[in-house]
Amino acid sequence: MSNWPKIQQLAKEVNSGKTSAASLVAKSLALIEQKKEFQAIISTTSDRARRRAEEIDNKVKKGQNAGRLAGVPFIAKDNFLAFGAETTAASNMLKGFDAPYQATAINKLEAEGAICVAKANLDAFAHGSSTENSDFFTTLNPYDKSRVPGGSSGGSAASIALDVAPFSLGTDTGGSIRAPASFCGVVGYKPTYGLVSRSGVVAMASSTDCIGALANCVEDVALVMEVMSGQDDLDSTTVEVKDNKFSDFKKPNKQIKIGLVKEYLADGINQKVKDRVLSISEKISNNGDIVKEISLPSLPLALAVYYILCPAEVASNLSRYDGQRYGFSDANSKSLEESYYNSRSKGFGNEAKRRIMIGTYVLSSGYYDAYYKKAQIVRTKMINEFTEAFKKVDYLIGPATPTTAFKIGEFTADPLSMYLNDIVLVAANLVGIPSIAIPAGKVDKLPIGVQLMARQKEDHNLINYAKYLEELINA
Ligand code: GLN
Repeated sequence: MSNWPKIQQLAKEVNSGKTSAASLVAKSLALIEQKKEFQAIISTTSDRARRRAEEIDNKVKKGQNAGRLAGVPFIAKDNFLAFGAETTAASNMLKGFDAPYQATAINKLEAEGAICVAKANLDAFAHGSSTENSDFFTTLNPYDKSRVPGGSSGGSAASIALDVAPFSLGTDTGGSIRAPASFCGVVGYKPTYGLVSRSGVVAMASSTDCIGALANCVEDVALVMEVMSGQDDLDSTTVEVKDNKFSDFKKPNKQIKIGLVKEYLADGINQKVKDRVLSISEKISNNGDIVKEISLPSLPLALAVYYILCPAEVASNLSRYDGQRYGFSDANSKSLEESYYNSRSKGFGNEAKRRIMIGTYVLSSGYYDAYYKKAQIVRTKMINEFTEAFKKVDYLIGPATPTTAFKIGEFTADPLSMYLNDIVLVAANLVGIPSIAIPAGKVDKLPIGVQLMARQKEDHNLINYAKYLEELINA
């Protein structure tokens, strides 16, 4: 049993005066303190959260509606700019950084009465799959402390599995919401590219960065996504999706066609994980929908494409951290050039440096055509293959991660094998389509997720089907 009722129910109780926002905030902060040993949290925004709770309770006392998320506490990944605590992106570069404004996503949630209570751990600048790249500490998996929670939104996913708040926010550039959701047994949603404004979120790779939510059930994720979505003048890539009442669930009234992605059941995917996906597919067809195998031949190239394009964009986005305007600045440097050099050398961790070097290399004049340009060509080919696939099926299904949570330290000495953990995730980012990870039971006592993908802007339909699938899995 969860510590929290459904979000809609919670907000209703606050609005009716049955529960107070103050008590919910106090409860969440106490739970965070109790579960401290898992190191999911970097900082709490406790003072501001308590003040906001008071404001909401006063509104209710005056008979005003305090919003659809009235008094609901949540945790933001620490690459969201938020008031009340520093925003570090788990990097030494941004340690002590006090955000001058808040992320649009957080503002939208606050406008509906939600209260940010803490900032969650991540791989520094969201580069990673385990939170081991955090410059501060590694988060422990709630199911097994010797294992990682996944990444990069590992603190956000662990927080939900530890049940310290009803929902959390993450970012997904190449799987960073869905991977930790799978490792921690929670629901994680990566929307259509551009559905949620990224204003006020530390940029990683701008052509794939997405903001999404993690929670215990599809219903809660749907409501949070509905509140956060929509066009924003502060992010020119945002799109308006007409069908955006995600929390309105309608049972699909036609037979749905699901494509079982052949390449996601290939070598390198744990056999027991494959078996879980296959048994869920069987359940789906036993219940009247059609599941057929589908091949997207370029998929085996997705990881290579991602690990060229992502570092290229990372190298460009991280160039702003030059030690002059904000972030870490080396105090002992004697010239501007020395200050650039020392601030970046000392402020960035190994993974950020690795990506800056790879990114700069693939963009350099002699290698641009061979790497960056070629990767973009393959990306377009992949987009075309997905478009074709979605003419044949409504949704695609596969594992959310190739294995269950791995051991802390298992891949830290070998970055390439760490990157391999993203193999089933990055394509959705490169193609810009929505994708959701849903808990699919356990393999060897550890949670594992199943991944469902849909056409661009079909977020509502995807969420609807995900809710149906969640019920089917739990039946
Ligand atoms: N693991 C992937 C990477 O390290 C994804 C990161 C992300 O989605 N933020 O690039």
